[in-house]
Order: sequence, then C-alpha cells, then structure tokens
Amino acid sequence: MRPIRAELSNKALLHNYALTKTKAVKSQVFAVVKANAYGHGLDWVARTLRDVDAFATLEIDSAIRLRTKGVTQPILMLEGFFGVDELAIFARHHLTPVVHNLEQIKAIADAELEAPLDVFLKFNTGMNRLGLQGGLSGFAVNTAATHRNIGAVTFMTHFATADGKQGIAVQLKSFEEIIKAAKPVFTQKRFTQSLANSAALLRYPETHRDWVRPGIMLYGSSPFDGKSADDFGLKPVMTLRSEIIATQTLAIGDTVGYGATYTAQKKMRIGIVACGYADGYPRHAPGNNIEGTPVLVSGAHTRTIGRVSMDMLAVDLTDIPHAHLGAPVTLWGEGLSADEVAKAAGTISYELFCGVTARVPMVEVE
Ligand SMILES: *Cc1c(COP(=O)(O)O)cnc(C)c1O
Repeated sequence: MRPIRAELSNKALLHNYALTKTKAVKSQVFAVVKANAYGHGLDWVARTLRDVDAFATLEIDSAIRLRTKGVTQPILMLEGFFGVDELAIFARHHLTPVVHNLEQIKAIADAELEAPLDVFLKFNTGMNRLGLQGGLSGFAVNTAATHRNIGAVTFMTHFATADGKQGIAVQLKSFEEIIKAAKPVFTQKRFTQSLANSAALLRYPETHRDWVRPGIMLYGSSPFDGKSADDFGLKPVMTLRSEIIATQTLAIGDTVGYGATYTAQKKMRIGIVACGYADGYPRHAPGNNIEGTPVLVSGAHTRTIGRVSMDMLAVDLTDIPHAHLGAPVTLWGEGLSADEVAKAAGTISYELFCGVTARVPMVEVE
C-alpha cells in the first residue's frame, strides 16, 4: 500500500478542547468543524468531541449529518441560510443560523416554522465581510427580541486582526456601541454574546463572553505568526506521514525534478517521498538552491529539494546516512509543526489541513 497517511490523535484533540475550557472558564465552547473539521474528518472529530458544549459549521449537509449521528448540542451555522427554502430544514433539525442581513431577519419573520429558531445576530464591526451595519441593527434586534419565530438571541461579531498588531480594540468598541444603541425595549430576553475565535480566545480574555468559537487551536495549530502552538500547550492532532520510496545520489551539477530548479553544488544523496500536491502538499513549497521546506526523515530535520510534483517530492538525505528505503517521513504534525511548514510555503496551517485530499487515508492513533 502507498505509505502516505494522516494520523489523527484523539488524545491531542481532547487535550486541545480541554485547554479551550481552561482558558475561557466561564464560556460555552463551540467546536468549529466547518470544512470537514478543517480537513480532519467531520465524523471522527464529532465522535471524539461528543461531549463538547456545541458545534459550529456552515455546510448544511454536515449539520444534518451531525444530527443524524445523534448530536443534540446546538449547531451554529456560520454563514446562516442561503435561501428561504432552507428555513424549514433549520427548524426541523434545530440549527442555529447566523443572521447577517435584514433580508434574512425578514425571511424568518415571514416564514411558517414548525419551531422557533435561535439566532446569532452578526454585526459588522470592521471585517466588512458578513454582518449588519450599526445603523441597521435596531430593526433586526427588535424583531429578534419580539417575533414568535425567534427563540434565543446572541449578539455576535468576528475579528479581522485578533492575531495581528492591530488587535481587537477598534472592533470591540464598535461592537459595544452597536449593541448599546440597538437595545430593544420590551423584552424579557437575555441576549448572550459571542466574539472570540482562537486568536481572541488565547489573547483577549475580555472577548470571551458567553460563547467562544475556537477552530484552529482545537486542531493544535497556533493562530499567531510569532507564537508557536507549543507556547500555548497545544498538541498537533494531524500528523501527515509517508516513507522514502527511492533514493538517488547526485554529482555536482545534477538537477532534481520538473523544471530542474535545484542543482547539486556537491555530492549529495536524496530521497523520494510518496507525497505530492495530489495529496495536498503545497506545490508552491520552495525547494530551490536558496530555500527548502522543512521535513523530518527518520526523526531528523531536513528540507525538500526541487519542485513538488503530483505524487512525489524529494528530500535531502546527505546528512541522514541511516535513512534508507522505507525510512519514515513526517511532512507535518508530531515533531514538525504544520505552522512551520505552512510558513515556509507561504501559507497557513488552516490551508494545509483543509487541503489534504481524499486519497490520503485518515488513521486514528491512541
Ligand atoms: C472559522 C471561524 C471561526 C474559527 O476561527 P479560528 O481562527 O479557526 O479559531 C470562528 N468564527 C467564525 C465566524 C468563523 O468563520
């Protein structure tokens, strides 16, 4: 069998979830499982995290799948509903839509529903992607507060720079102003709040509020450029492993791979790994004479050599003489942070995880 596989650690996933609970003690946690649980497999993640407070996703088939598998916790739908025809499904499966424009709040008010919907009213506080603008929130808040089709209401926003220099101050201020201005008059309802993604959860306790929405930290990666997952005590859930399936010796001037982008400057030994871009390894990961992408072979750190092709990539074995045919290779995960690999490849670990393709078997370990 082709030796590539993605090993999934249930211990690491449970550990990272527990860590979200110790950081945000007073909050309920949405485990964000959109995009097939960041590429880790929705079924496996949902089974492993069966005791979480709640799940957040955005694909309706995933949400229904969670319900079919017996998930009874709240399921937050991060992009809401895309057409009125979906409202009946939301009501039947007790899915909680993010409501981010006036058309949606009107659609809910006009619908015949078998049960009221809980909603997350999303305000645009500066990301300028989804969300009601300040001036439009009064009507939405009052409708949400009083309409029979709407149950519990949560005020929500999403930060653009919780991981970066600008931080959250400007957006947080805007959020506080919007909800203050939009305060509904006649209602008994208590409005809960949800602001924090992983970066805000780890860095800004003042954003924790009632519900936090961690994604990437559950999977063991850092949302920050300068701080590693290790710094927070996060453990990698996915380890992408393969093996050396061939070796070559190079003389000075020999080149490697498509486009001959790497030229040996000395006598070298290289290994060919059964892993390429058709497995989800980034093709743009550098492997030229100036820079390579980190990789582990037999536990030793080395780098990629030449272009990543569809099914293979090459690694430098010159200083790892004990690595022969069948030597174990770690592309990312345990012992080699996905964040480090992503950085070398000019991307983020989120994209690496989501990009692992269907031909890579997922194997549970521990
Ligand atoms: C994806 C997503 C999250 C999780 O973000 P992470 O950076 O992975 O923690 C939280 N909130 C919303 C609205 C999202 O779309």
